[in-house]
Amino acid sequence: MVEKSIFERIIDREISASIVHEDELCIAFHDLDPQAPLHVLICPKKRINMISEALAEDLDVMGHLLLVAPVIAAAEGYADAFRLTINNGSGAGQTVFHLHIHLMAGRLFSWPPG
Ligand code: 5GP
Repeated sequence: MVEKSIFERIIDREISASIVHEDELCIAFHDLDPQAPLHVLICPKKRINMISEALAEDLDVMGHLLLVAPVIAAAEGYADAFRLTINNGSGAGQTVFHLHIHLMAGRLFSWPPG
């Protein structure tokens, strides 16, 4: 059996997290090491290791993640300005191999990102 990802363990309540949103398709919780005043990770409940492994059948869940992000941002008081980031692969900074969107807000963000 494939070992659970950290985020699956959060979904299964084996590891605690500060959860801000949950529905049938996804869960969102505060990052353990926040890089902005608001730093939430939005994860599909389905284990997809990285966005390059998402399949056509994942269209609904992928769209759902993007639609949920502004709802969470607004609920947390950052409706107007926030950044969404997905790291794909260790070369791009991915450290947890369970797809997630970083939702960050509450500070200025530079462009291009580092
Ligand atoms: P990545 O580097 O894969 O794009 O992002 C992984 C994120 O997961 C990092 O920002 C890291 O701080 C966060 N993280 C890693 N382990 C945990 C954990 O156990 N709980 C929470 N809430 N966040 C975690």
